[in-house]
Amino acid sequence: MKQMTSAQIRQMFLDFFADKGHTIEPSSSLVPKDDPTLLWINSGVATMKKYFDGEKIPKNPRLVSAQKSIRTNDIENVGHTARHQTFFEMLGNFSVGDYFKPQAVAWAWELLTSPKWFDFDPQKLYVTVYPKDQAAYDCWLEQGVSPEHIYKVEDNFWDIGVGPCGPDSEIFYDRGQENNDVAENDPENYPGGENARYLEIWNIVFSELNHLPDGQYVDQPHKNIDTGMGLERMVSVIQNAPTNFETDLFLPIIHATEQVSANKKYGVNPEDDIAFKIIADHVRAVSFAIGDGALPSNEGRGYVLRRLIRRAVLNGHKLGIKGSFLRDLVPVVGQIMQSYYPEIVDQQEFIQTTIENEETRFAATLNDGLSLLKETIAKTKATGSQQISGEAAFKLFDTYGFPYELTEESAQEQGLSVDRTGFDNQMEQQKQRARNARGNKQSMGNQDQVLMSLKTPSIFVGYDQNVVEQAQLNAIIVRDQEVSQVTEGQAQLIFDQTPFYAEMGGQVADIGEIRDQAGNAVAEVVDVQHAPNGQNLHLVNVKAPLVKNERYQLAIDETFRMKVRRNHTATHLLDQALRNVLGGQTRQAGSLVEPDYLRFDFTSSQRLTEAQLQQIEQIVNEKIWQEIPVETIETDLESAKKLGAISLFDDKYGEQVRVVKVADFSMEFCGGTHVKNTSEIGIFKIVSETAIGSGVRRVTAVTSQEAYRVDQEQLSYLKQMQQDLKTPQLKALPSKVAQLTAQLKTTQQQLQSLQVKLAQQEAGDLLTNVQQLGSLKAIIALVPDTGMNELRQIADNWKQNQPSDILVLGTKNQDKANLLVSANSVAIDHNLAAGDLIKQIAPQIDGGGGGRAQMAQAGGKNPSGLDAALQLAKDLITKA
Ligand code: ATP
Ligand code: MG
Repeated sequence: MKQMTSAQIRQMFLDFFADKGHTIEPSSSLVPKDDPTLLWINSGVATMKKYFDGEKIPKNPRLVSAQKSIRTNDIENVGHTARHQTFFEMLGNFSVGDYFKPQAVAWAWELLTSPKWFDFDPQKLYVTVYPKDQAAYDCWLEQGVSPEHIYKVEDNFWDIGVGPCGPDSEIFYDRGQENNDVAENDPENYPGGENARYLEIWNIVFSELNHLPDGQYVDQPHKNIDTGMGLERMVSVIQNAPTNFETDLFLPIIHATEQVSANKKYGVNPEDDIAFKIIADHVRAVSFAIGDGALPSNEGRGYVLRRLIRRAVLNGHKLGIKGSFLRDLVPVVGQIMQSYYPEIVDQQEFIQTTIENEETRFAATLNDGLSLLKETIAKTKATGSQQISGEAAFKLFDTYGFPYELTEESAQEQGLSVDRTGFDNQMEQQKQRARNARGNKQSMGNQDQVLMSLKTPSIFVGYDQNVVEQAQLNAIIVRDQEVSQVTEGQAQLIFDQTPFYAEMGGQVADIGEIRDQAGNAVAEVVDVQHAPNGQNLHLVNVKAPLVKNERYQLAIDETFRMKVRRNHTATHLLDQALRNVLGGQTRQAGSLVEPDYLRFDFTSSQRLTEAQLQQIEQIVNEKIWQEIPVETIETDLESAKKLGAISLFDDKYGEQVRVVKVADFSMEFCGGTHVKNTSEIGIFKIVSETAIGSGVRRVTAVTSQEAYRVDQEQLSYLKQMQQDLKTPQLKALPSKVAQLTAQLKTTQQQLQSLQVKLAQQEAGDLLTNVQQLGSLKAIIALVPDTGMNELRQIADNWKQNQPSDILVLGTKNQDKANLLVSANSVAIDHNLAAGDLIKQIAPQIDGGGGGRAQMAQAGGKNPSGLDAALQLAKDLITKA
């Protein structure tokens, strides 16, 4: 088999399908975009849903990708099986209503077996098909696969409920019976069975049916191909590794972990190896997840991260690792993945800090938690119970940060279980108590059924109005149920009209207040989202009773909204300025408009230069100074497109669209709220520019007060410097710094020449130190660290007035040593020629040398032998 690196294997897959007319899609973020049903992107197809369900038609129906994926359901497998990670890359080719079974199978076989590509031995490959899928069976036969290598397996049907589904065909690599964990004749020992011999490397899904809500399956108008090949598994096969971990994707991380462990080595003890593998897997997962914008927290994605980090830390303890160490593995991950995923190296510092903070937090509570855990286990056992209570598990979670699963694992090691229901109840109560955060979107997912049935219309009037005096309250939802009134806690409300903006197009939702007709505040609006039928759904903290069908005054927080407006219009100006500077090929890849800052993501293969950033900032500010009126136009889609308005790549638009126009500079499809005139933005300032994914970069910027604040802060540093350097004026700082630098340079030069003089003087002193050895006068000296040139200079001085018959010098120069001998005719007559003497003493410094009778020199690798060399010279001279 060919020798290939993981990077080459990934590239070969992409190249093969690009060769067959596929467009290479860059890996999407691990955090799903606009898909509340998914916690993490867990396969290539997860990013292609919009194409597969027909919501959107791709430009090219043939696509190929290497997609970052996270599967938390495999967490327990990591380290225990050869083939599972939580984070892995899925290589996949996709056909959206284009080629189907015969072509997909033919290409899969060609890629795997052709000598031009992966060049696998066909004898090592097995495939499985769905028993009723004779077509797929025939396709494999057609490729020359022998019938003994095709298995019919009932499981091979891909169906995740309502929606596209179909039979699939899996490809297995035979790792040989010697790598198996079951006997040759075990009933599970076949491709697709529970065994370690036949490794599933690739799955090809023939998405041809539609699973209807009533349970029927009907033909799909567009048949699609969706495939998934695990990169790590391919690499393990090609690099002939026993598991995914002994490959170039993981070994550098494992070796770096060995460095910090207490003398633990990988491959010695199976228990330790599991810990090494878990750490290597988890640090990859958290580095990528944080790089894609997820952060450790107590729920959802953040909880998964927290759990992964804590699990890695606890496994570090098993290897005797003390202190934070995960953060130091991030650069190793960055190095390995850099060629295809520069985002880890680009954001290394941020990822490291985030991980270290989490490690520190955990360390602080870990010891207390561990003793409480021990105590709890002991108490539970003492009472004769088999189960740790939900309250105890919750206390460990809430106070000491122990993820539930960790408590459960520790309990299981002691033969106990944990009361999950009790734990969940405690958790729910906690959530009720602490539900104060904005943007609690998760509650929406659960409430679809009730919300979907709500058809009562609601009009958004917030483009022109900050307050609606008489809005009728048409629906109240409390904990997934529609109710007619609410007196406390949280609720979701729909009114016939509202000034509150619902989060959309990157612009955050409004916050504000709901008042009764007497003007008393009855609820605080903390978030607004679109309900399934489009109404603005207000998430509120109830302060006083609210009753359905009553009328209320709705008032947004005007300061908040004013800031948002400025940042939103500034985002449009930034978008256009970027296009002007980078050229038309750049496109927007997402944006966020908050009151305090704005964030804009765009495609670009290179980081922006300082000059480009300045130019962009300048353009935006010029548009602000030009005091341009901002217009909005509502029109139909076609006319808007004809006007040349910029539309976003994956947004959907209805028949009527809204276009926001800043003179002839910027024109974009946008439903957001904007200033009336660009001058309202005040100033615009870019604060950072970073990479967030392959080919995607992010600019964050501030406007108005916030920009002023940032400027003030930077100015304060300069002023501090001005004070420290005692310059009368700020503008004199650069020349002051230049002056200081020049001064420093002169001082350094003077210092150097003084050092030379000093050395010369010391050498002079040295020549007065004459000793009488037998009948000869000798000078023997160890000169402080210097080099052969200096020794020669001293010898020249010696020669001029010959204060002795013989001169022996030694010196150390970093890890090298030098010796020099000079002799006059008297010494030579005593059989002490310089060349002879040096040959005798040089071995002491592990060196050799030679020269003439008058002068000889030697170099060696052992400075610690200098004293012995000089002593030996002394003895030899005395004897002579
Ligand atoms: P398995 O049964 O081995 O867990 P799967 O049936 O869950 O695999 P698919 O959902 O078909 O796998 O995913 C397609 C491919 O992705 C697999 O063939 C495999 O190469 C890879 N893959 C799936 N899960 C993982 C994982 N946890 N770690 C590494 N690779 C994986
Ligand atoms: Mg699986």
